[in-house]
Amino acid sequence: MSPEEIWQTVLGEMELSISKANFTTWFRGTRILEQDDRNIVIAVPNNFSKEWLHNKYNPQISQIIKKSLPDLQKIDYRVSTGVLHSIADTKPNENDQTPKAAHQTDLTKLNPQNSTFNAKYTFDNFVVGSNNRLAHATSVAICEKPGETYNPLFIYGGVGLGKTHLIHAIGNEIQKRHPGKTVLYVTCENFTNDFIHSISAGKTNDFKKRYRNVDVLLVDDIQFLSHKEGTQEEFFHTFNALHQTNRQIVITSDRVHTSIPDLEVRLSSRFGWGMVADVRTPNLETRLAILQTKCQEKNFTLPEEMIESVAQQITSNIRELEGALTRIITHCSLYKVAPSLDIINELLEDVLQNKNNKKVTTDQILKTITKFFNISLDELTGKKRTRELVYPRQIAMYLLKNELNLSFPAIGRELGGKDHTTIIHGAKKIKKEAASNKTVQQDIISVKEIIYG
Ligand code: ADP
Ligand code: MG
Repeated sequence: MSPEEIWQTVLGEMELSISKANFTTWFRGTRILEQDDRNIVIAVPNNFSKEWLHNKYNPQISQIIKKSLPDLQKIDYRVSTGVLHSIADTKPNENDQTPKAAHQTDLTKLNPQNSTFNAKYTFDNFVVGSNNRLAHATSVAICEKPGETYNPLFIYGGVGLGKTHLIHAIGNEIQKRHPGKTVLYVTCENFTNDFIHSISAGKTNDFKKRYRNVDVLLVDDIQFLSHKEGTQEEFFHTFNALHQTNRQIVITSDRVHTSIPDLEVRLSSRFGWGMVADVRTPNLETRLAILQTKCQEKNFTLPEEMIESVAQQITSNIRELEGALTRIITHCSLYKVAPSLDIINELLEDVLQNKNNKKVTTDQILKTITKFFNISLDELTGKKRTRELVYPRQIAMYLLKNELNLSFPAIGRELGGKDHTTIIHGAKKIKKEAASNKTVQQDIISVKEIIYG
């Protein structure tokens, strides 16, 4: 196996065993820098990843690599900010006959995912609001004539906003209306793993047959193609084979196609060929409607003012809204009590507090930022105004304000004696950029993920 393929295997397996947020935070931008039979050097983007991978994930990583390099003795992690693709000159292709490894039986057990749609997710129980109107309408339209209207359909938006629900609804609906058509649903993770396993099992032709002969291919969470050069190449060919013969492709992603880091341009441009539709956070009215639908589904009666109270308090996403409702239902049936505003407020207080009020300190925030951006504390709090330093500094201003609600002068003092107007400007700038720039948004999410870990 080439270093690229070995690392793809590691990424593929790690992705399955840890949370998505952790995976993105710790494995983003990693690759194999040097390799011989006994030693491997992994390039990581910053000190924080270095420490974390070394302290937390090293045994697991080493175990996975040993399947391909049984003599492996040592893994080093080295901070490197160089280009990402320097080592990937051997790409898997049709003629790849990787020697059959000892672990082959394990791998072949992990068969391709069957196209099973979650029967729970249909158009009938999908609440349409201004936040998802276009995504919903185009999804319905393609079910009528798959492959003929919007191809591909690319649906994107933040977590818990209904992408998976929609893509399953499409699958269910097409199967109902066009029973003769083969519809395959796959998460990007499963596609990746399936591909990797097909290489190590020497069965890439079977893989191709499976994915290139369907009438409809539904791929959930395509952002995971990021950094996976070999899988991107394969997906590119899969996409072309289907698209050229007017077979329908539907893709979801947690961000717009042009913002997926390290995605080949030829792929991201193809993702924009058909219809690109987003799903956003629902407004109060839609949140009320969703809660009502969910109550009906779960056969639970919640008086109007209580539904309103939940919808007022849980604003960020629909998964949390549903989670809050489940909590209320469980509580009431467990203690055999009728729901009341008091109970609801108490239960939601817990939910909201866990989320928002975990105690963090200025020190933790600053330290995390220095590690994340690979700069020193002196540089972060200093006066030098290069882009590499100003950006993390402004992120610090923003987070100290938002997470700790420090006063602007206090933040100025924490950051080496800066004027409060500088702080106001910096914090505002990040807030504004985060609204439109997905990279900034992702950086904030990643830093927070580490802080609250
Ligand atoms: P995503 O894939 O965008 O992270 P999901 O599709 O998994 O989000 O949605 C999370 C939960 O919220 C699911 O249980 C789903 O049924 C529900 N949900 C999301 N959007 C809607 C909607 N518009 N109407 C009803 N339920 C929704
Ligand atoms: Mg999803």
